[in-house]
Amino acid sequence: MFGRRGQRLLRRIGRRGAASALQDANQMMMDGDYAGAADAFKQLAQGAENPFPRRAPFLYMEAGRAAILSGDSKSGVVSLKRGLTLLASQGRLHRMQVLGQRAVDELTARGLNVEAQGIAQLMGASLPKEPPTQPVPVKHPILPAHCPSCGGTVRPDEIEWIDNVTAECDYCGSPLRGK
Ligand SMILES: [Zn+2]
Repeated sequence: MFGRRGQRLLRRIGRRGAASALQDANQMMMDGDYAGAADAFKQLAQGAENPFPRRAPFLYMEAGRAAILSGDSKSGVVSLKRGLTLLASQGRLHRMQVLGQRAVDELTARGLNVEAQGIAQLMGASLPKEPPTQPVPVKHPILPAHCPSCGGTVRPDEIEWIDNVTAECDYCGSPLRGK
């Protein structure tokens, strides 16, 4: 119906739409509108599950973080668990452990011990029988603090590297380069 060029155009609009929705969500987070950010990230995460399953877990984690900051720890924990479960089902157990531990630390720091325990339990249930082999440490360049494409927070100690100098934004998949 749209022809090849039209489809390309639609795809481009779709991508730009997602990128600016991410920018909006990150902006709400920075402005302290946590309830708004929680909704926006959750919508993005749900939308990402099909076309971009690799992105969805991080969007759920951010949705959970935002909801907890907004005071809605119940739906926050639901989103956190969804993100961690997705990571486990994708076989990304190392990332699941790192992100899960950060969530546990943040919940504990806010005095949400029951919620922290729930996350720790979920992580324990997904632990492999043998500890994963630690990747050989590589010297990577320093990355920008925020993704230039979507404004998402870049956490150098947690990010996935495509090669020695290029990492991948968790939220939008853009390549990130150090200087
Ligand atoms: Zn990004």
